[in-house]
Amino acid sequence: MLCSFTDSRLTPTLRDAIARAGYSTPTPIQAQAIEPILDGRDVIGCAQTGTGKTAAFLLPVLHRLLGLPRGTTRALVVTPTRELAQQIDDVCVGLAYHTPLRVGLLVGGTGMARQEKALRSGAELLVATPGRLLDHMRQSQARFDELSTLVLDEADRMLDMGFLPDIRRIVARLPAREQTLLFSATMPPVIAKLAREVLRDPLTVQVGRRSAPAVGITQAAYPVPEHLKTALLRHLLRNTEMPSVLVFTRTKVSARRLARTIAADGFAVGELHSNLSQPQRTRAMEGFRRGAFQVLVATNIAARGLDVEHITHVISVDVPTVPEDYVHRIGRTGRAEAEGDAFVLVSPAEEKALAQIERHIGRRLPRVTLPEFDYAQRVAGQPRGHRGAVPPRPPRAKPASRSPNPGHPAGKRLPAKPPRSRRRRR
Ligand code: AMP
Repeated sequence: MLCSFTDSRLTPTLRDAIARAGYSTPTPIQAQAIEPILDGRDVIGCAQTGTGKTAAFLLPVLHRLLGLPRGTTRALVVTPTRELAQQIDDVCVGLAYHTPLRVGLLVGGTGMARQEKALRSGAELLVATPGRLLDHMRQSQARFDELSTLVLDEADRMLDMGFLPDIRRIVARLPAREQTLLFSATMPPVIAKLAREVLRDPLTVQVGRRSAPAVGITQAAYPVPEHLKTALLRHLLRNTEMPSVLVFTRTKVSARRLARTIAADGFAVGELHSNLSQPQRTRAMEGFRRGAFQVLVATNIAARGLDVEHITHVISVDVPTVPEDYVHRIGRTGRAEAEGDAFVLVSPAEEKALAQIERHIGRRLPRVTLPEFDYAQRVAGQPRGHRGAVPPRPPRAKPASRSPNPGHPAGKRLPAKPPRSRRRRR
């Protein structure tokens, strides 16, 4: 068990990189996984994103690469989504910055040519998504004769996304290697079987499964008729201090529509869903990360991969039907010991799904109704008399206002509750 980075066997260059990244002590998965991986063992890591698992495998893998001849690919990380691959690549470039090691990224949605160049130049570590990796393998561009370590990341997610046959094809094409690492948040039987087939005498390390959200996230449910969800979201954005908001919708179409509506209100908004090209997705992520977009509207595609330090609010416009999706969504805030707020807008028809989530996380979310929001309003184009379902505690309706901030004529953004400055628990 590794208690401190300074006591580790990691090379001084990597220890410097750890200090530059601001990691003071190893997270639980790092404490358990780094030493056995340094020893060359096969490891099954039961951990989700948000636990520090990327550095848990990258640090020892980079350390081992530094002791091997350069100029050929010796480590391969396979991960399900482009965003996750990009994130791993970013962490890797940061950690390996002062080493001579080179990192290559093989993901779909961008041209093959640059990736082929990285392959020919013999990048020592490659990060890839399954489909694009297979494309390169089929064209014989990717050579793995000297592969030493294979990392299968987010194995359960690969299963969910239908990548398991691709993973089997990839593994079948790879030569025997010294070490295989498999990371997965959950261990369904198919993944356990894959692990038995692909790993040799693995050590299993497990960090507490996040069936409960990270501490530090303040959660609340906002009951609202379905047809007023957009209006309530706009109201929250206008009247609450929300420096960096990730909004989740179920479908790509509603993500696009919502992004446009919010943009028309004058907010800087990005969209992230699979109808966009890879460069568009990258621009959205980067813009949000840099703070150029205050709001990012995303489908679940972003729920796993996104790692943005400063997200202050996650708003789910629909209630996820799978409780774990809810935990993943809200895990985008409160990352790495920061804190954040997570709101879910819930229509009467979604109360059942919310109750399921509450059972899963073991607590009931406080219900919030806003006295200044008109829950009885009609939306444009809606037939007279249609008022939707009544929220549990019907609030007093206020007269409609023409001000961009109803109820706040000065136009100042007023917090619905005292603004919480960005807190980091140390
Ligand atoms: P991951 O689970 O790899 O997605 O990591 C989640 C977040 O934790 C990332 O923002 C990392 O930069 C951060 N992180 C990783 N290791 C540490 C550490 N030892 N101390 C503090 N933050 C860390």
